[in-house]
Amino acid sequence: MMWLRECPFDDQGLLRPVIPLSLMCDTCGSVWCTPDDASSGDRAIVPEPPDWSACGNTYNPDTTRWATRDEVAQAGWSDLPWHEEST
Ligand SMILES: [Zn+2]
Repeated sequence: MMWLRECPFDDQGLLRPVIPLSLMCDTCGSVWCTPDDASSGDRAIVPEPPDWSACGNTYNPDTTRWATRDEVAQAGWSDLPWHEEST
């Protein structure tokens, strides 16, 4: 699984690419619309029920999933300094 950086919001989780395409913390669930947003700790959005909206998308836990490497490439995000886990 890919991750970009540690979460600036909780300093514990990792920001991973998610579909709808953006970044999401694997611990606190905060969403960052773009990688640039993730470089500034005050731009986190925590989607909440019932609409789960953030970044003009819907982040319902039932439909939101982590992005694949191919989807990251299609988004033009391949050149970001991703970290890679072996799992
Ligand atoms: Zn977090």
